[in-house]
Amino acid sequence: MSKHNPPGPFHPASAMDFLPPGQLREVQFTRLKGMVQRAYDRVALFRQRMGERNLTPADLKSLDDLVKLPFTVKMDLRDAYPFGLFASPLQEIVRFHASSGTTGKPIVVAYTQEDVDDWARAMVRSFAACGVHSGDIIQNAYGYGLFTGGLGAHYGAEALGASVIPISGGNTDRQIMVLKDFGVTVICCTPSYFLHLIERAGELGVNLKELPLRAGVFGAEPWTESMRQRIQAESGIRAYDIYGLSEIVGPGVAMECQHQSGPHIFEDMFYPEIIDPQTGQVLPDGAEGELVLTTLCKRAMPMIRYRTRDITSLAADRCACGRSLRRICRISRRSDDMLIIRGVNLYPSQIEAALLRVEGTLPHYQIIVDRQKGLDTLEVQVEVTPEVFSDTVGAMEQLQAKLSHSIESITGLHADVRLVMPRTLQRSEGKAKRVHDRRQM
Ligand SMILES: [Zn+2]
Repeated sequence: MSKHNPPGPFHPASAMDFLPPGQLREVQFTRLKGMVQRAYDRVALFRQRMGERNLTPADLKSLDDLVKLPFTVKMDLRDAYPFGLFASPLQEIVRFHASSGTTGKPIVVAYTQEDVDDWARAMVRSFAACGVHSGDIIQNAYGYGLFTGGLGAHYGAEALGASVIPISGGNTDRQIMVLKDFGVTVICCTPSYFLHLIERAGELGVNLKELPLRAGVFGAEPWTESMRQRIQAESGIRAYDIYGLSEIVGPGVAMECQHQSGPHIFEDMFYPEIIDPQTGQVLPDGAEGELVLTTLCKRAMPMIRYRTRDITSLAADRCACGRSLRRICRISRRSDDMLIIRGVNLYPSQIEAALLRVEGTLPHYQIIVDRQKGLDTLEVQVEVTPEVFSDTVGAMEQLQAKLSHSIESITGLHADVRLVMPRTLQRSEGKAKRVHDRRQM
C-alpha cells in the first residue's frame, strides 16, 4: 500500500489562503474595524479598557493602529466567568465550550451559529491544507465534550465531506481495532497519544505501516520536530501540526500544509502579533516572543490582542505551497509552563530536548519537582527500551550519567535521573502530564 500523500483536490474554502498580501491586509482591516466596534459597543471590559486610553473605534485608521489597543489576558476570562465577555445575547448563542481550569473556575467560551460555521470553515481549510479530502476516513480521537478539540475537528471533517469516526479519546485497543477494520486514512489526536498508539499497536502485532493510514493531524500540546520524525519513522504516516486554543476558537487557528514548515495562520480570521512578554512591545517577523491573537470574525466572544502565553516566532517567507499566510514556528514553550527551580527558569521542553539528544531513550518521561529541607529537588524519570534495561549495571549507569550531563548542559540545573522499566510511566489519553510539582502540597 502506498503511503505517500498526494495533493488532495483543491478545496474552494482554501482560496482565502492564497489572497495576495495587499488584499489580505484590506480584508483584515475591514474585519478588524467591525469587530472592535462590536466589542466596544457590547462588552463593558473592552469599552472600559479603551476608555482608559482615550480610544474609540474611530481611532483605528489602519492595521498599524492595532498596537494602541489593550491586551486581553487569561485572567480577564476568569474574572468574567461565566458570561461577562459575551457580545451576543444568550438567545443567539448556540454552543458553549470551557477549558479545564487547573485552579478554580474554568474559562467559558461561546459561539453563535455563524461562529460555529466559521470555525468549521477554518477546520476545512486546515484539513485541505495538509491534503485531507472528502474521500478520507477520519478517526477523531480528540476528546468530545467541553474541550474544543473533539467537536472542532468533527464539524470540520463533516463540512469537508469526509467520513468521520467520532471515537473520542481513550480505549486504546479499540482505537487500534477501528483504525485497522475501518480502513482509516487520517487520525486526529494529541501527538503524545499517537506515540502511545504506536507502542500498543506494536504489542498487539499490528503493523501501522501496512494500514491505509497516511496522515495525522496532531495538536493540543506543544511537540518537537524530533517527535515528528519519530512518529513518521515508526508509523509510516505524515504528521502535521495543528494549532488552536479555546479562547480564540479551538483547533483551526493555524495548520501546516504538506510542506510541514510550521502552521499557516488563517490570518483573515485571526490576526497574529509577536510581543516581548516582559515589555509588551511588538516584535518584527522572525523574532521570538509571545504570540498574541485578535479574532477578526468572532461574534459571540470577540478577543482583542489575546496573550496566548505561547512562545514562538512568525515566519513571513513564502512557503513552497504558495499560501500568503504567515506561519508559526514551532512553539518552543509556554510562558506559563515555566518552572522556577533553585531560582533557575526551566521549561519542560528543555528536558525533552536534552533526553532526545541522547540515543536509546524514549521520549516518555516525567519531571518531579519537590522540596527537601527548603531546597528544590529535580528528578527526571526516563523510561528506557527493554534492550537497555537488560543491559549491565555499568551500561545503565553510563546512560544515566549521559542524560544527566545533557540536562545540565541545556538547563544549567542538576537533575537526578532515574531510569525506569519500559511502560511504567502513566500514558496520557489527552494532553500529556509531564510535570509533577509537589512543592505546593
Ligand atoms: Zn505552506
